[in-house]
Amino acid sequence: MNDKLREKLIDIEPYVPGDQPKGEGIIKLNTNESPYPPSPRVAEALKNINPSELKLYPDFVCTELKTVLGENYGVNTNEVFLGNGSDEVLALCFKAFFNSDEPILFPDITYSFYSVWAELFKIPYKRVPLKDDFTLDVEGFLNKNGGIVIPNPNAPTGIYEPKSGIEKIIRGNKDSIVIIDEAYVDFSEEGSIAELVHKYDNLVVVQTYSKSRNLAGIRFGYAFANPELIGVLEGVKNSFNSYTINTVTKTLALESGKDRGYFEMCVENIKSTKAYLITNLKELGFTVCPSSSNFVFATKADTDCKALFEYLRSKNIYVRRFDAPKISNYLRITVGTDREIYALTEAISDFLNK
Ligand code: PMP
Repeated sequence: MNDKLREKLIDIEPYVPGDQPKGEGIIKLNTNESPYPPSPRVAEALKNINPSELKLYPDFVCTELKTVLGENYGVNTNEVFLGNGSDEVLALCFKAFFNSDEPILFPDITYSFYSVWAELFKIPYKRVPLKDDFTLDVEGFLNKNGGIVIPNPNAPTGIYEPKSGIEKIIRGNKDSIVIIDEAYVDFSEEGSIAELVHKYDNLVVVQTYSKSRNLAGIRFGYAFANPELIGVLEGVKNSFNSYTINTVTKTLALESGKDRGYFEMCVENIKSTKAYLITNLKELGFTVCPSSSNFVFATKADTDCKALFEYLRSKNIYVRRFDAPKISNYLRITVGTDREIYALTEAISDFLNK
């Protein structure tokens, strides 16, 4: 390819998702999926999809789906926006709401996709350092900015910032849009701040069915905000792709949303396995961040966690490690089933006793 041609190509360093290894005997604890299948109502609905429905474009309004989501989180149907996974919703939010010469703010240790979207859309950004214990520095988000995005619980630490701190940030930034990415909020004690969209017109809350609803494979995410912000998001979406929710996703997400009992049972199981995982890790000498999510973030001072990561991989156990400042000796471990966590603990123990 000649240089003049190459000059016209975008130069971007993309987000790198965790591995999706396939095969027998793999223990996959690296991308924060649920170890449980989706609700039985989802399986039933999948069986009943009429293939001839698929010849038509999907419904791009999805009123019933928005109504069920709204009922579950205390917001109105016109305060809901839907997308192809929360990654897409977040990307559209960046485009729609971050249009200032001032930098947007996000924590220095956080979801690594934020800087990628900022680079892609040429949005200036600044990382606000977390405190030494990896909790959020609320005051650091009260400086001049072009917008704010914070995951709560944060990723990859799993630490939840109490509602009072988040509300202080929203209140202190009346002229900026504040996006709270609640991908893991269903595993927290205090829960979602979705209802605050009635109180603050600068708040956008983003959630997903990939974690607590056991449906990463259908790609379904959504945002809650006041109707004016939702209208702007719809405008950006319709300038890009009108049909982001396909017919199968719409049908299955609706059934999952209606099955509160199964959802709560899975969340409780994951919380209980998480307690077992944390106990095991502490017994093995790890320091574990307080986790309000479906994963834990842990390190062991006298141990090379990169070598441990590679050892686990050689045993077909996949966890996640980030080659980034301050956290390169940490492992992020998704909560699997009790059996998977038992196998992980045994493998870590073997590595430490080598
Ligand atoms: N936000 C955070 C903090 C995440 O960890 C993830 C999962 N990688 C997402 C958003 C995106 O999830 P999804 O696109 O599957 O909804």
